[in-house]
Amino acid sequence: MAADKKKKVPERWVRSTCPYCGVGCGVEVGVRKGGIVQIRGDRSHPANFGKLCPKPIGLPEALRSPDRLTHPVRAKANGALEQISWEDALGEVARRLAQTVERYGPKGVAFYISGQLLTEDYYAVNKLAKGFLGTNNVDSNSRLCMSSAVAGYVGAFGTDGPPTAYSDIGYAECILLWGSNTAECHPVTFGRIKDRKKDPKVSLVVVDPRRTPTAEIANLHLRIKPGTDLALSNAMLRVLLEDSLIDRRFIERNTNGFEEVARVARTQSVEQAARVCGVPAEEIVRAARLFGEASAAMILWTMGVNQSTVGTLKNRAIINLCLATGNVGKPGAGPFSLTGQPNAMGGRETGGLSHLLPGYRSVENPEHRREVEQLWGVKPGSISKEPGLSATALFKALEEGSVKFLWVAATNPAASFPNLGRARRALENAEFVVVQDAYTTETTRFADLVLPAAQWGEKRGTMTNSERRVSLVEKLVEPVGEARADWKIFAGVGRRLGFEERFAWEDPAEIYDEYKELTRGRPTDVTGLSYERLGRSPVQWPVPDALPRDERPSGRIFRPEPGEEEHPGTPRLYTDGDFNTPDGRARFEPTPHAELHESVSAEYPLVLSTGRIKSQWHTMTRTGRSEKLTQGLEGPFVEVHREAARRARLCNGEEARVISARGSFVAQVITTEEIEEGTVFAPFHWGDLWTKNGSVNDATHDAADPTSGQPELKGAAVRVEPVRKREDQSLNRTAGEVV
Ligand code: SF4
Repeated sequence: MAADKKKKVPERWVRSTCPYCGVGCGVEVGVRKGGIVQIRGDRSHPANFGKLCPKPIGLPEALRSPDRLTHPVRAKANGALEQISWEDALGEVARRLAQTVERYGPKGVAFYISGQLLTEDYYAVNKLAKGFLGTNNVDSNSRLCMSSAVAGYVGAFGTDGPPTAYSDIGYAECILLWGSNTAECHPVTFGRIKDRKKDPKVSLVVVDPRRTPTAEIANLHLRIKPGTDLALSNAMLRVLLEDSLIDRRFIERNTNGFEEVARVARTQSVEQAARVCGVPAEEIVRAARLFGEASAAMILWTMGVNQSTVGTLKNRAIINLCLATGNVGKPGAGPFSLTGQPNAMGGRETGGLSHLLPGYRSVENPEHRREVEQLWGVKPGSISKEPGLSATALFKALEEGSVKFLWVAATNPAASFPNLGRARRALENAEFVVVQDAYTTETTRFADLVLPAAQWGEKRGTMTNSERRVSLVEKLVEPVGEARADWKIFAGVGRRLGFEERFAWEDPAEIYDEYKELTRGRPTDVTGLSYERLGRSPVQWPVPDALPRDERPSGRIFRPEPGEEEHPGTPRLYTDGDFNTPDGRARFEPTPHAELHESVSAEYPLVLSTGRIKSQWHTMTRTGRSEKLTQGLEGPFVEVHREAARRARLCNGEEARVISARGSFVAQVITTEEIEEGTVFAPFHWGDLWTKNGSVNDATHDAADPTSGQPELKGAAVRVEPVRKREDQSLNRTAGEVV
């Protein structure tokens, strides 16, 4: 035992960043004999000051997992698999891409990428697709996670970008968590909120159909019915108006459109809203007063707001409340979307959604296209002016046959996509599918070609967390087998397509330097950053490469050097009330209440809400391969209110089938009174590598918000039935099936 422990004592510790959620915690990684043996929190990192949740602790095991993908593999026509060389693999991808573009045009190819990718990976794939293949069909799984927040910020402030910082939590007098189980999904940020709440003048309000661990510590929990957020926000605004808790001065100086928003809010009484939301009117009044009377108030939110067919409007409603009370651009205040994935922000910055270009530019803006074309050295008109397909539209196009070639990188749509039946048909229908990942997943089964990607710790690059803080992710060990960094794979194909000079990078730092030129003068300006500087400390953008003129040292020519004279980064946006809209004013937007896309009925009387648990991440691709994290984990479960369970004759602990109009899954019933009576909740982690009896997303639907394209993963109409004949629900790991 003592010898065992000794074996694991690290020879050196290296600072890096956790690869899971958007909190973006700094880690120190213990390395020994070319392997990663231990992870601990980095006390100097401003996102977490040394604290960590359990997830990164399992990274050393997951990295060493025996079912890592180690070589490129091709599926032959007879279904057999053959290992091939990188030379052949990259050649085949390039040939198939060129062939598809020639036969069907650039719109025949598409890329489905991930918020797990590093900024450099994101930049490389966007450059390849949008600049050199002429297709904007590059969309990320962040579409399923944060695109409503992007649309909300753009609509209200003129550009994307959360204006707040984690440090604001320390100044807020009211913290409103809306549709966010922060305690389980962003545990380190929740730790900060808990600490702040120790101050008796600070109130915590939680809006959620479930009494989650987050709601347990709240001063007030509004257990609303799913999909009634807009009725609640309008009623809160009405109370703010009636109690004169709005900031008229801020509204008049810095915003447009308030009167129409106020008019819409007045069309519904608080009592009406209370009936719609299923909460007492007094609770709505109390929430509004706690928010409006605070000297500084924040609203933090995640998927409970974003994953909705009116997700953009819900984001606008939250921003409306902040603008109406002057809670923007000052310490302890503001709207703050928490990103699910570790680099969803970096993806947005590099143009990782199908309507974006690097530096928060839009493919529809001719000036933006020209600027990017110039830097990429491509002919004017190379970048298409038409937005590409958003994720759900992309899978529909695959199913219908207008997209022929799909390249999936670092994500697992065959488990995580809504309406999985359609997603699987889409993947089957594609002419050619490339899957690039570090592990066998549910999606690799659909691949014609599997490319082994280097994993966290095996490649270097950067990520941006929820508060716009850019951190360095270090390469600590060599990739397993022949695995390669994602950016290297994209660049390799670019070179084989004949663009040798444009994809000649040898090192990710060269990519970062190229990318940052595209941010010069943009809201996301990171020209003041370099790997050298990020190695010293993470920084929040914008961070231009020179201090503003009035902050420069006087009496000599200013040349920024590493150290004090560097731009310090920007904790908070819009402190001067000047927004990124053409007239500099923030915009209000009316947000009338809208029903869920799918109504409940006698056949499907309950609303299925999906989410996560603390120890697992996404579809368990990495966390499921760590015994530390799977110990004690029993398998899929569904929480059902006791009354709903009684009506459906369900007993606590028994297996039940959750059925929607599209499909079903089996899960163990947990009866509870901590959930709104018409709602059932199930985490979506278990895909069919881990359970035989269907996944949560077999039941969800893929109707999406018309502005953001984000699907409503929290609003499927279902019924729950007991499973009379016990089905084999044991973990069924068929990993290794493809290679
Ligand atoms: Fe990693 Fe998020 Fe946990 Fe921090 S809170 S350790 S970033 S998973």
